[in-house]
Order: sequence, then C-alpha cells, then structure tokens
Amino acid sequence: MTECVECGADVALHEDLEAGEIVDCATCGAELEVVGTDPVALETRPNSKKTGVSEP
Ligand SMILES: [Zn+2]
Repeated sequence: MTECVECGADVALHEDLEAGEIVDCATCGAELEVVGTDPVALETRPNSKKTGVSEP
C-alpha cells in the first residue's frame, strides 16, 4: 500500500497504475500524481481542480 504524501493515509491503487496518472486520496482529497510505479511514488499536485490545460 502506498501512503498519501499529504496526510499519510493509505491510498488505494489499482494494479495497472501508470506514471502520470492522477489518483485521489480518499481521506484528505488530495490529488496525487504517480511519478513512478516500481516502486510506486506519488507527488502532490498544485491546486488544479480539473480546469485549464489537460494533457492528452
Ligand atoms: Zn491524503
């Protein structure tokens, strides 16, 4: 299990996780970007609430 870098809670991740994916922490609601998958590494995202530029 991977920990949320914001609150330290366990973050549920699906098996086919890919770098660049965004996962939401169910505990604190933080958006976490997957920066690595082996091992899984998460980084916080700046306050972008699904507006503005989104990459393909
Ligand atoms: Zn969290």
